[in-house]
Amino acid sequence: MSIYNCPHCGERSFNPITKAFAGQLNSPGKVCMKCGRKAVNGKGATIFNAIYSLIAFASIVVIYLYAPKLLGTQYEWVAHYELVIGICILISKFVVPRLVNAFFFKMAPAIRVDPVK
Ligand SMILES: [Zn+2]
Repeated sequence: MSIYNCPHCGERSFNPITKAFAGQLNSPGKVCMKCGRKAVNGKGATIFNAIYSLIAFASIVVIYLYAPKLLGTQYEWVAHYELVIGICILISKFVVPRLVNAFFFKMAPAIRVDPVK
């Protein structure tokens, strides 16, 4: 069974793009084209996202704290591009988990109940 198969009906109804935007366990999820039920990226993706967010946040703090100390060393560029690096990390915090969701980890049924339907 591929990672693009629906966890409800087993049909291959997702692709990297729809899977990337299906969100994690705590999100509403994406509707399966075949059975109409909702699926999200499973536990693996959720854990990865949490760890990645933590690492990204830690790197921003570390760069903020240590960048001034790097002036005059061979890593001086880090101090000069501190803001750029910080922004790149912030952007990657949104992009990387989506890319990973698109190509890795199995999908799971959405647990969050939709109040509208
Ligand atoms: Zn389905």
